[in-house]
Amino acid sequence: MADETQVWAGGCECGGVRYEIAARPGPISFCHCGQCRRQHSHVGAYTTFPREAFRLVKDETLAWYQSSERARRGFCSRCGAGLFWDPVGEARMDVTAGSLDQPTGLRADRHIWVDFKGDYYDIGEDGLIRKTSTEPGNQSKVEP
Ligand SMILES: [Zn+2]
Repeated sequence: MADETQVWAGGCECGGVRYEIAARPGPISFCHCGQCRRQHSHVGAYTTFPREAFRLVKDETLAWYQSSERARRGFCSRCGAGLFWDPVGEARMDVTAGSLDQPTGLRADRHIWVDFKGDYYDIGEDGLIRKTSTEPGNQSKVEP
């Protein structure tokens, strides 16, 4: 019952964008694709949830970048925080794990797009699932 009434809130660093998710978000994915590394300075950490559970509370400084034909990325135009990965026409969307208010109560369960990872680091032995760009279960991204 707690999960049915709990709301996961979050927002950007400066407070210009705030959101709420009225359903328990899925486990966190660490995405190693080139777009995430550029947008987030390093690996992207995202959680996914039903789009219908999402509500923008404040969008004063929200801006969108169409990062591919399949998705757009939402970010704060004032503080630069990366916030949303929004796939066109899908019943779900993603928010960055780092933008969620603490405590999230969530845990990471996988690395995705590992075949696209940067050459300047190794993915440590952390026991998490690893998915390449072509494997099923690579649920947080449809293309880099
Ligand atoms: Zn901001």
